[in-house]
Amino acid sequence: MSAIDTLPPLREVIATHQLSARKSLGQNFLLDLNLTAKIARQAGDLTGCDVLEIGPGPGGLTRGLLSEGARKVLALEKDTRCMPALQEIAEAYPGRLEVINGDALEINPLEHLTPPVRIAANLPYNVGTELLVRWLTPPNWPPFWQSLTLMFQREVAERIVAQPGSKAYGRLAILSQWRADARIALSLPPGAFTPPPKVSSAVVHLTALPEPRFPADAAILSRVVAAAFNQRRKMLRAALKGVTPGIEDHLVAAGIKPTERAEQISLEAFCALAREIENS
Ligand code: SAM
Repeated sequence: MSAIDTLPPLREVIATHQLSARKSLGQNFLLDLNLTAKIARQAGDLTGCDVLEIGPGPGGLTRGLLSEGARKVLALEKDTRCMPALQEIAEAYPGRLEVINGDALEINPLEHLTPPVRIAANLPYNVGTELLVRWLTPPNWPPFWQSLTLMFQREVAERIVAQPGSKAYGRLAILSQWRADARIALSLPPGAFTPPPKVSSAVVHLTALPEPRFPADAAILSRVVAAAFNQRRKMLRAALKGVTPGIEDHLVAAGIKPTERAEQISLEAFCALAREIENS
């Protein structure tokens, strides 16, 4: 019997530990272990990897990651009520699951992880987007992780993989595609979750590139794209006015027409603009 067979079904875990879903914590649980194993497989070959999981909840995806062979899972969960359920999983997989009870936005997981590291999460979307941006914008590259396998609202997933000229193209597309390969790996209907959310979801898989696609300073590029897309209907010379003095000259030097709008500008051109600003 494998370790996973000794653990009770997730519906029973939720009933035993009274894990009624809390909206304030964005709790929409995955209870089908075939599905959580399928999501875990999207993260690539986990054998020999430490996996950082954010928001394990009752542990459906955690079980998937462990059964798919992760060397170790480090799980960060804010909800104290989930700790006993996660403890049961830790006992079924001795030495392979470490759980920290706290806010993932405030915990530095690095001292608990040994490379190579992959990250997997089914998180509330606001926390997911914030962590994604942090993971993509450290000053130095490559980062501590090899890949990110993250559940998002379908609409957010589409923003991550969007191309110039589309409505979905913006800060998330630029920051994701600058230093990683990003693709939608799996789509999930609301009914895959308990309770079902209002909209469809998708799993996005990002693989860190050895080097950014084009050179640029992460902080400057972030600032430029945030300003450019904050006022996406405005011409760039107006949208970027507050970023630095003489923005029109920088735009021209980077080969961008100051009258263009952010939506039309390629990743390469945004990186050229960030370099112009840095070197001015
Ligand atoms: N991974 C589980 C699953 O797939 O069934 C639970 C997913 S549920 C969408 C999101 C989980 O993230 C919840 O367990 C919630 O308590 C947890 N969570 C929410 N905000 C968090 C934060 N800031 N840090 C860590 N965990 C958080």
